[in-house]
Amino acid sequence: MTRSRQVHLVSRPHGWPAPENFALVEVDLPDPGPGEVLVRNTFMSVDPYMRGRMNAGPSYAPPYEVGEVMHGGALGEVVVSNSPDLAAGQTVRHNSGWREHVVAPAKAFQPVDPAAAPSPSAYLGVLGMPGLTAYVGLLDIAAFQPGDAVFVSGAAGAVGSVVGQLAKLRGASLVVGSAGSAAKVARLLELGFDAAFNYKDGPVARQLADATPDGIDVYFDNVGGDHLEAAIGQLKPFGRAALCGAISQYNASAPVPGPSNLSMAVGKRLTLRGYIVSDHYDRNAAFLAEVAPAVQAGRIAIDETIVDGLENATGAFLGLLRGDNLGKMVVRL
Ligand code: NDP
Repeated sequence: MTRSRQVHLVSRPHGWPAPENFALVEVDLPDPGPGEVLVRNTFMSVDPYMRGRMNAGPSYAPPYEVGEVMHGGALGEVVVSNSPDLAAGQTVRHNSGWREHVVAPAKAFQPVDPAAAPSPSAYLGVLGMPGLTAYVGLLDIAAFQPGDAVFVSGAAGAVGSVVGQLAKLRGASLVVGSAGSAAKVARLLELGFDAAFNYKDGPVARQLADATPDGIDVYFDNVGGDHLEAAIGQLKPFGRAALCGAISQYNASAPVPGPSNLSMAVGKRLTLRGYIVSDHYDRNAAFLAEVAPAVQAGRIAIDETIVDGLENATGAFLGLLRGDNLGKMVVRL
């Protein structure tokens, strides 16, 4: 038996989630049975999509159950293995985050090579789900072409920072990012963005028009709302938008208005296309073949905000929704 701690959802939020929606719980885990392994988690991911899973309604991911442990991307080390497929000491990626230990069948865990990444937590960020989201959204959904002018919102976060850097490496004529603080704007310029602005400094439409006087070919939307409306106004004829997320609306407690200028999509022949990364795992090999060497060579920088301790995971998640993170927000366990 292993004594371990986990985070449970204890109530569903209406609007912004709060610490009282979560509880840190001690449990006794059984010893692993035949074909099972015991894994000690070393890092866990907090992601914006987890906010949607706190709601009861149907979505593309099933809701977290009240009174149950939460889930999410995590990295761990095999402690005990009763399976020929995994050995003690191996580093694995899996979906049983929000806890310090997990016992499960070996097939629930994917071995990763910690030596092949600058930091193991990169497998939860630039070399993991957020990196693949950036790759698929920019290249497949928005059909990026060299020479395109690109605008990305949420640009200093896990997905956005990879989108901007990849677009530059792939030959974008212009890459502009928006983010929520002066420090984040400064970081985007260090990462090679041609221009960046703080969306809190003034209307997004005006700031975007100032930064892209000739318009944009591609918009990568992490934010929705006023950002999407501004981008529709600034997209050139036949422009493409990858609708990746709408974080400005995840904590809304009432319906939010759509972009007031959506009808411009007709005259400009725009493509506005939503997607979910889990439909595109067949692109993982191509993604890693391009992005892993670029990360190892320093052509794509890794930004991470690391919070220590499962007892601080809830705070890390709430902070992510507020914008406390630069790059990928991870919790070290
Ligand atoms: P980030 O690392 O970008 O963290 C979230 C960021 O959102 C915060 O740091 C904050 O930065 C920003 N933010 C919060 N509120 C607002 C607001 N009102 N307006 C503008 N920005 C805001 O998260 P990820 O990179 O993991 O995710 C980015 C987006 O991609 C999310 O919308 C997420 O849901 C989506 N996503 C979609 C996937 C898919 O399959 N379609 C898969 C993975 C992610 P700031 O300080 O700049 O405000």
